[in-house]
Amino acid sequence: ADMIRIRQVLTVEGPHRVWALTAVITAAAAALAVAVWDMPALGAPIGVPWWALALLVYGAELTVVHLQFRRDAHSFSMSEIPMVVGLFFSSPAHLIIAQILGNAAALGINRRQPGRKLAFNLSQFTLQTGVAVAVFRLLLGDRDPLSAVGWVATLLAGTLAMTVANTLINGAIRLSGGRLSTVEILDVLVLSAIAANMNASLGLVGVNILWTSPSTAWIAGVPALVLFLAYRAYVSQRQERSRLEALYQATRVLHESPQIESALLAAATYARNMFEVGRVEITLFPEGIEHVAYLTAVGPDERVVVMEPVELSGDEPWLRVVESARAEILPTGGGSRRPEGVPESMFAPLIGDDATLGVIQVADRLGDVGSFEAQDVKLLETFARQVSVSLENGRLEDSLAQLTELKEELRHQALHDSLTKLANRTLFIERVEHALTRCERDERLVAVLFLDLDDFKTVNDSLGHNAGDQLLIAVSNRLRAGSRPDDSVARLGGDEFAVLLEDLARPAEATEVAERLIGTLAEPYVIEGKTVKAHASVGVAFGHAGDVPDQLLRNADAAMYAAKKRRKGTVQVFEASMHAEMMRRLELKGLLAEAVARGDLELLYQPIVDLATGEITEFEALVRWFHPQRGLVPPGQFIPFAEETGLIVPLGRWVLREACRQAKRWQDLGLDLKISVNVSPRQLSEGDLVSDVKLVLEERGIDHGRLVLEITENVLMSTSIRTLEDLRGLGVRLAIDDFGTGYSSLSYLDRMPIDIVKIDKSFVDRLGDGESPLVRTVLQIGEALGLDSVVEGVESAAQVERLRALGCRKAQGYYFALPMDEAGVDMLLGREPADRRLLDPAPEVADNVVRFRRATG
Ligand code: C2E
Ligand code: MG
Ligand code: MG
Repeated sequence: ADMIRIRQVLTVEGPHRVWALTAVITAAAAALAVAVWDMPALGAPIGVPWWALALLVYGAELTVVHLQFRRDAHSFSMSEIPMVVGLFFSSPAHLIIAQILGNAAALGINRRQPGRKLAFNLSQFTLQTGVAVAVFRLLLGDRDPLSAVGWVATLLAGTLAMTVANTLINGAIRLSGGRLSTVEILDVLVLSAIAANMNASLGLVGVNILWTSPSTAWIAGVPALVLFLAYRAYVSQRQERSRLEALYQATRVLHESPQIESALLAAATYARNMFEVGRVEITLFPEGIEHVAYLTAVGPDERVVVMEPVELSGDEPWLRVVESARAEILPTGGGSRRPEGVPESMFAPLIGDDATLGVIQVADRLGDVGSFEAQDVKLLETFARQVSVSLENGRLEDSLAQLTELKEELRHQALHDSLTKLANRTLFIERVEHALTRCERDERLVAVLFLDLDDFKTVNDSLGHNAGDQLLIAVSNRLRAGSRPDDSVARLGGDEFAVLLEDLARPAEATEVAERLIGTLAEPYVIEGKTVKAHASVGVAFGHAGDVPDQLLRNADAAMYAAKKRRKGTVQVFEASMHAEMMRRLELKGLLAEAVARGDLELLYQPIVDLATGEITEFEALVRWFHPQRGLVPPGQFIPFAEETGLIVPLGRWVLREACRQAKRWQDLGLDLKISVNVSPRQLSEGDLVSDVKLVLEERGIDHGRLVLEITENVLMSTSIRTLEDLRGLGVRLAIDDFGTGYSSLSYLDRMPIDIVKIDKSFVDRLGDGESPLVRTVLQIGEALGLDSVVEGVESAAQVERLRALGCRKAQGYYFALPMDEAGVDMLLGREPADRRLLDPAPEVADNVVRFRRATG
């Protein structure tokens, strides 16, 4: 149970985990201390009092030598010497007390270790002492301390205590997020073992001399001192060299970095490695500390900040350094950014030609070495001078100028339309908001005009995007020229524009401006050598104090929509009733979008019949929408809306996939049936229909020739021949739908890459009135051009007779069958032998084929 609790505690984050480890060590140390507390001293001829031993511990700890391994500092001290002296000349209780007091003084006062480290180290030292005493006394038993057994016991106790300490330190480093490789751990272990045994041996020499002739004991101090000095000299030389190298490297990078940002980042990174610290911050204040400052920082951990504008609070800890212009060690100080457990930092000023440009801060020394020393300060000062030089020569000014420029550019980009350079929606809304607050104060009239081009799509579709873009630019130029300098003109997206009118004298002024703009926009444009016309419809909404800008814009939009619906190229002022209409449309759009996403749609299929044989040759797929309240909605009520809102693209994709799934079923049943799918203009102009079709055909695995795409004639006229040819290139057949209702004349037919003409129902309706010459002509031309003809909307036997007499081959209509669902189609087909799909009267067939009649004689 204990194990589990400890593990739970140890999973807590970072410093907390070190605290937990410290608690565990303290408990173990206390247990050991209690076990050895009452043991008497060994009975040496002289005794060393606890305070003298404590002084010895303190002294040994002060002579500590630091060895750096990568980012972790390992201290190596002569602490085994007082330990050995204590083992022989004092009681365990006194030794433990001396260790705690001596170490506390050295670490807490002289080395100013922060609480977390201090607590950990003290508990760790105490445990070490406990281990050493226990091992030593266990091995020695009641033998003579000066015998060989005593020597071996001392060395073993020292080595073991040292190993325990190392393991604990490694553990602590790991828990605070660091990680040592096995090689590093072994390196340190071997080095410490050698040092520990050397120190213990020296201690033993001293013990022997002290035991037998106390008056000459000082001689033992000589080799100890020499050894210490040798260590110290070696280590400091090594450090010096590596720091000089780091400084040289950093200086080179600083001066070679083309940009100030990268130079500063490099400087901070180098400083972090050079000083073995967790955090380096360079604060620049080129215009003085009262103005904006720029922060570049590396650490703690992965944090990297480059030239980020910051506001100075005025009580920065480094203000003194700026005044004295000298590097110093100072308390990390107040302010909100003070990190936990970092009591002090090194600061150095960055001094420019005429003023102090900034400050570099080095903080949070890693490893056991908690604080900075005089030589660190000197090094930082040198380093700071190098950084300052690299900031001079105008580099800093250039960089700041660039920074401001970039920011302005970004802001401009964020608020303007890149094509027309007009304000965009965001900026326009901002201006409307401003105007609305002003109109509250000054009681002025504010209006928003919402403009939409009526024929933009046609231009874009027939002349290409390039021409479309040019038209938009031309329109925006006319809008700008046609409005007063104070009016804001914006492009809201696509072919939608808005104008904000402020300071109107009377409401009629707004409609006058709108009419004038419609007039200017209606003048012909010359685009890519062609004359193009573009008309605009305009909605007007008046703003009142307290209005929401978005709402005002939506009102103008609704008015524009009403204008368009009534008559294109006109002005309409917003009325409250339009709001309801708009809400209805918004709701409808949401519902439809959901339905498309969920596939709450259904395809019905209506057969197309060969009049000569009575065979069904294909089905036309007709979509329906399951509306949550209204039930099955016919396409006439939502396809135009889907087209307007762009939902037609995903909707059309769904229809295509579903229709092709059906076609695949027929193909697998061995039925020779085609499927005909309706395509909307927006699918052609916006979606990539060619690749959509290709993908679906491949996904479903149907013969490409089984798919027919129906396109209405107006759309066909504005679609590039190229796209049509690409579609046919896939093997897909194209039909011109509702032929006779559009503007195209018969002469167009031979220019179009199409296979089938679907003659509109209106022709059939006129059949009874003896107006058959027109139908006959259409059928004849179709035949002459090698096109298949299908007559739509056949409702009676009489019509069938007349059509047959006119030589019409194929027909579709309620007379044969209503559009039916999959089950209906199956029933219809299931009654037929697979090779001949003769249409038979079938009263028992599902309801949706009740109008179905025999077509052949
Ligand atoms: P359309 O492509 O011309 O389709 C023929 C329409 O005429 C269908 O109406 C069909 O039910 C109806 N119809 C067939 N026979 C007769 C008849 O004898 N008498 C009368 N009065 N009507 C007949 P529906 O299904 O309401 O579709 C209307 C239009 O909606 C279609 O006209 C087509 O343009 C469009 N549509 C249907 N499904 C889709 C689709 O999946 N995508 C697209 N983009 N449009 C579709
Ligand atoms: Mg159709
Ligand atoms: Mg049609």
